[in-house]
Amino acid sequence: MSGLKVYNSLSRQKEEFRPIHNKHVGMYVCGPTVYSVVHLGNIRTFMSFDVIYRYLKYLGYTVRYVRNITDVGHLVGDQDTGEDKIAKRAKLENLEPMEVVQKYTNSFHAMMRTFNISEPSIEPRATGHILEQIEMVQKILDRGDAYVKNGSVYFNIQKFAKQHKSYGELSGRKLDELFAETRELKAQDEKNHPADFAIWMKADDRHLMKWNSKWSEGFPGWHLECSAMSTKYLGDHFDIHGGGNDLKFPHHENEIAQNQSACGCAPAKYWLHANMLLMNGRKMAKSDGNIISAEELFNGTSEHVSKGYAPMVVRFFMLMAHYRSTLDLSDQALQAAEKGYNKLMEANKYLQSIPVSESTEKSELDQNINDLVERVFDELNDDFNTPKALARLFELVPIINNHRDQKPGFQNISADILNKLKSCFKDVLFSIMGLMEDHAKSNGSGKVLDGVMELILDLRQQARSSKDWNMADKIRDHLAAHNIVVKDGKEGSTWTIN
Ligand code: AMP
Ligand code: ZN
Repeated sequence: MSGLKVYNSLSRQKEEFRPIHNKHVGMYVCGPTVYSVVHLGNIRTFMSFDVIYRYLKYLGYTVRYVRNITDVGHLVGDQDTGEDKIAKRAKLENLEPMEVVQKYTNSFHAMMRTFNISEPSIEPRATGHILEQIEMVQKILDRGDAYVKNGSVYFNIQKFAKQHKSYGELSGRKLDELFAETRELKAQDEKNHPADFAIWMKADDRHLMKWNSKWSEGFPGWHLECSAMSTKYLGDHFDIHGGGNDLKFPHHENEIAQNQSACGCAPAKYWLHANMLLMNGRKMAKSDGNIISAEELFNGTSEHVSKGYAPMVVRFFMLMAHYRSTLDLSDQALQAAEKGYNKLMEANKYLQSIPVSESTEKSELDQNINDLVERVFDELNDDFNTPKALARLFELVPIINNHRDQKPGFQNISADILNKLKSCFKDVLFSIMGLMEDHAKSNGSGKVLDGVMELILDLRQQARSSKDWNMADKIRDHLAAHNIVVKDGKEGSTWTIN
């Protein structure tokens, strides 16, 4: 089996994954700005890194996963002017800024649980790390890479870029173009150059969240929190830094500059970027109203979907695309995902129920299964290729179903290969992909339906045992009229929704 390769956005190629400290991995992912409910685009990014985190742990690494909460400094328009997103919402909702932060942090956590997205090891908040950020501003000033203007502190990009030719490398921006581009921006008088960015901003009187510093009563620039918090919890140089690819510029590029200046090295060895969730071919984004909320998707109340989809179906749908590819949300694709999810879950249910015999006799089938199982992990090792890994599992489904249907030639699976196949399905579907069973049948009420179906199939089994074929058929036909298909096998009956 091949070793893990990851696509490093910095080198623009797949590289062998070699952590800095042997079996320990440090991973930092930019978390949400908690000023509103996360949308499905945000969720896709966090889910992508969840699978990466899960797979690293599966491979035996001890992972310290830091995913922050941005609760100050992220301004409307993602630049150095405009209102703070949190403060703006606080005024709108007539709440304290910290009430806004708490409210949307809670709702973010609830959403992460709904999608079975793991909790990080540390979830630091920007407002809880003002001291660390002030210290970093001082270090950058001491290095001569920043200047103070009217109580604000600006990173001197022109000077820095002259010394560090790597500025712009991550996002692929050419410096000349960048400087020409920013020159045309609206005059932001205070800065020496429009490409410079704030690492500390003086707050005006109306500003709600501000702290004392030697430069002014103010607040840290948006890019600074990630530099300060990643360094604090993972050290100057750690393994993986991730986020959505819309953060490459200016956020990550400026993070690198800050770390390079304050710590003398670039923060991360591997930069991993997740691609965007689209709807109607356009990035899902709150700013232009091109969004559908998770709730609307679950309830089927959006004009974009014909019915509701369970959280695990949505999770499966997202895993059917590689994290570096864009993914277009559509009703058709969700329907296909629902079918695929049910098919795999059914196959797995039966697979796990097969008793392991003592058979050590090898067969051609053994070889076939073994090769496919190895390929599942080869795909995951190839930059976490979930769609291809799922495709390999789908290739195994007919073998499992033929075993269930007692097709000749499909009964001889040796004990160790059967165990390997069982572990592969269980590990990949649940531990690595983070899917959960039986949540796809219907939104929220999946568990109830499961319980009811268990009872019905039990009653039908009793009817069959007492040779009451009329009753057994009546139950089956009645269920079929409600699109529930019952299949009778050697190990009992199973059901699916058509
Ligand atoms: P924000 O709360 O805006 O800071 O974004 C949180 C995370 O969601 C960031 O990593 C963004 O890159 C990511 N993100 C925003 N929009 C999308 C989208 N349409 N698809 C995927 N990720 C997104
Ligand atoms: Zn960040």
